[in-house]
Amino acid sequence: MADCLFCKIIHGEIPSNKVYEDDKVYAFRDINPQAPVHVLVIPKEHITSVGAAEEADEATLAACLKACAKVAKLENVAETGFRVVSNCGDDACQSVHHLHFHVLGGKKMAENMA
Ligand code: 5GP
Ligand code: ZN
Repeated sequence: MADCLFCKIIHGEIPSNKVYEDDKVYAFRDINPQAPVHVLVIPKEHITSVGAAEEADEATLAACLKACAKVAKLENVAETGFRVVSNCGDDACQSVHHLHFHVLGGKKMAENMA
């Protein structure tokens, strides 16, 4: 999608710090990290959010979650624990409208998620 920040990152029009990539997924460090490990996992295909995903996106969603697990291993938090978050819509404060999964780790997280 032409005017989408994360589509521009996928296409290399905006620089990013890559952590992992495969045919369906791109993962890169969040510009404003909220934990020692804070990586964004995004599908290469533009999907707006979890809520906007359709039946045909099933394989892409699965690839994103598999990539989150892969990123956790690459970042050495698979054993200690990590959190996967996807904000969807205004009440969740989604600020970039290209589906993304935050992979957060490297510290003890707050018990309260909201
Ligand atoms: P949201 O608030 O939509 O769940 O998450 C969007 C995330 O994208 C935020 O954590 C924000 O720091 C990150 N972000 C916004 N712009 C950029 C950018 O240009 N580069 C990178 N690497 N992260 C970004
Ligand atoms: Zn996009």
